[in-house]
Amino acid sequence: MNVDLHCHSTASDGLLAPKDVVARAAANGVEVLSLTDHDDTSGLAEARAEAECRGLRFVDGVEISVTWRGITVHVVGLRVDARSESLRRGLESIREGRAGRAERIAESLAAAGVPDSLAGARRYAENPELISRAHFARYLVEAGRAADVKTVFQRFLVKDRPGYAPHEWASLADAVSWIDASGGLAVVAHPGRYKLTKAEMRELLGEFKDCGGSGIEVVTGSHSPDQYFEFARSAREFGLLASRGSDYHGKGESRADLGKLPGLQDDLKPVWHDW
Ligand code: AMP
Ligand code: MN
Ligand code: MN
Ligand code: MN
Repeated sequence: MNVDLHCHSTASDGLLAPKDVVARAAANGVEVLSLTDHDDTSGLAEARAEAECRGLRFVDGVEISVTWRGITVHVVGLRVDARSESLRRGLESIREGRAGRAERIAESLAAAGVPDSLAGARRYAENPELISRAHFARYLVEAGRAADVKTVFQRFLVKDRPGYAPHEWASLADAVSWIDASGGLAVVAHPGRYKLTKAEMRELLGEFKDCGGSGIEVVTGSHSPDQYFEFARSAREFGLLASRGSDYHGKGESRADLGKLPGLQDDLKPVWHDW
């Protein structure tokens, strides 16, 4: 079955409207799709309606920004209920934090000789409550500071570079508990992206399980083939369900297209095993 449980729309920092994400997924042969916008669920209704028209199974999702021991970790929530009070409040608090962070990013860029980047980033953010570094990155390309978004993230917006603003996101325990309270399954997103030692990764996964987390992304657009094996081993070791998702954001900004990834290793238990 072609399952893609991680992607983004204009409700966060994707380039396609929710219905267009679904249309592209359908065209690529996806049978089960989850839209997992950053810290926001406002695209789900449109995506679900489009999925119903096209005969795709749709799963309500979200990708929550977390700070764990000083680093940013993402936790995907699948089959969440977006009306859940604690999830709604939690996501709202993260979005409020994003607004202040965006101002600090813009101040840092201004100090480095890049003026007006907040207004520039806002032009790319269709959801005014959700300003992401991806929006700043698109503006920096427009302003001629780098050739593409990938290069922006080598020169700007990251630690020790102009446009970096440290930020405290939700705690791991809070993010997992909001997902849990809304009836969803919590999944560690793209573990291979975090700069952690093997020992720290085990501590993260152990803590995640202890908080009530259920799954781990094994096959994602953010992983190399070696990492498919590495995190399949983690899934087995920690008894975590395995997930698969492209993390598609749009043309030119993603390594994997919707539904275009290898399948999970046969012995793993997929997060969708009982759906
Ligand atoms: P934020 O959550 O505001 O910190 O923004 C993070 C987003 O920036 C990610 O979800 C990606 O969409 C984008 N991003 C981060 N690093 C890169 C990169 N190296 N290349 C392309 N996009 C990136
Ligand atoms: Mn993103
Ligand atoms: Mn992510
Ligand atoms: Mn993502």
